[in-house]
Amino acid sequence: MTAYDVIVIGGGPAGLAAAVSAYGEGAKVLLIEREAKLGGILKQCVHDGFGLIEFKEKLTGPEYAGRFIEQAAATGVETRLLTFVTKIEKIADGFVISLVDRSGVSSVAAKSIVLATGCRERTARQVFIGGTRPAGIFTAGTTQHFVNLRGKMPVKKCVILGSGDIGLIMARRLSLEGATVEGVYEVKSTPSGLTRNIHQCLYDFNIPLHLSTTVTRCFGNDRLTAVEVAAVDEKMRPIKGTERIIECDALILSVGLIPENELAESIDVALDNRTRGPICDQNCMTSVPGVFSAGNALHVHDLVDYVSDCSRIAGKSAARFAKTQSKPERKLTQAAFDKNFLYVVPQTVDLNSDLSAVSVYFRSGYDMKARFVVRVNGKEVFSKRYSVLKPPEMEKVVLNLAEALKDGGKPEFALEDVTKLG
Ligand SMILES: Cc1cc2nc3c(=O)[nH]c(=O)nc-3n(C[C@H](O)[C@H](O)[C@H](O)COP(=O)(O)OP(=O)(O)OC[C@H]3O[C@@H](n4cnc5c(N)ncnc54)[C@H](O)[C@@H]3O)c2cc1C
Repeated sequence: MTAYDVIVIGGGPAGLAAAVSAYGEGAKVLLIEREAKLGGILKQCVHDGFGLIEFKEKLTGPEYAGRFIEQAAATGVETRLLTFVTKIEKIADGFVISLVDRSGVSSVAAKSIVLATGCRERTARQVFIGGTRPAGIFTAGTTQHFVNLRGKMPVKKCVILGSGDIGLIMARRLSLEGATVEGVYEVKSTPSGLTRNIHQCLYDFNIPLHLSTTVTRCFGNDRLTAVEVAAVDEKMRPIKGTERIIECDALILSVGLIPENELAESIDVALDNRTRGPICDQNCMTSVPGVFSAGNALHVHDLVDYVSDCSRIAGKSAARFAKTQSKPERKLTQAAFDKNFLYVVPQTVDLNSDLSAVSVYFRSGYDMKARFVVRVNGKEVFSKRYSVLKPPEMEKVVLNLAEALKDGGKPEFALEDVTKLG
């Protein structure tokens, strides 16, 4: 069985950045991707807006991925395409990974692994809509795959349920391709997508956004013929008498993304209920020593630039782990955060590892003007004011916690709502 220092599972932007940085630390690296090409979800994102932080340029998804594919090709990272990882097993000095490809089943070994398996979309079965189940109900990502990769138009007139970024981007894309987008319907009272996408994808194309409104029923036998929409109350229950029937041949769902973590769960990696990704430390190491998580598998990112950024940490740390076999031992302390956060990553901090540049990613639980505060043992060690925080927009801060945590303790994160404080 071939043995590697680091095996990276998933060849999207997270896996590519992790593999390149692990190689840069001197590791023997294998990158495994189930599809025929590297690049992950970016292959189908032909719109621009990628890379503003990473390359200070506006790139399309394939261009952004292309830059990392070139970087990987210039290294000695080995790549296996059309190869699906089906199982990971823990052994005394690392892991055995089972693979399936066209030649059959095989295994490879690694001292450490990076899980960069991305995320998947919530489907129609995961949201409760009454009525029939005809053809014509797609997720936004599937629609994007049809239009951008296969050159097929699966809709003439559609309704979009959910205001996630993929739905917004597809509203614009379908309009440009000649379809009628009747409107975007969002059950919450605030949009789920980035503000820039609301403006550039909806308002610039005169596509209405209906907040506090949902799709309650589908009609049609073979193909969708109409949907019923209704306003909802503050508990998101449809309000009687507000129903409206809209004729359409497609319902496009953009109702959330879920980190893909079946492999992580199979080796008992602890998951966070809020992010649905692994609980990790500042090195992106999960609760299982030697298993690292990166990109959308760790938590759903808004910008790919942050995916690349955090995945470099995962790759570098995985390579170091492979070299040292985690010496010194980890000394984990749980970070605390208040109820104003949707989530904070990392959820734990390893006191025996470098604390001088801890990247912290967070989202607020609701729209607010806030002061982000970090305390250690009750003493404020960092603060930053935000004129606006919105749940769809992820924030990143880099903290030097070396001095504050040198005698132990734990970081406590607070989001003080400045609007409420007055
Ligand atoms: C429609 C859409 C629009 C977006 N627009 C923007 C934008 O404008 N700007 C921006 O900055 N970001 C945008 N993003 C976000 C960005 O694309 C993602 O953050 C990024 O692609 C996540 O990278 P990843 O590597 O974690 O996951 P992915 O790109 O999903 O890659 C995961 C890879 O893992 C592989 N894989 C999974 N399981 C296995 C397995 N068991 N074995 C082998 N391989 C496996 C998959 O095939 C896939 O290639 C957008 C995302 C989407 C979906």
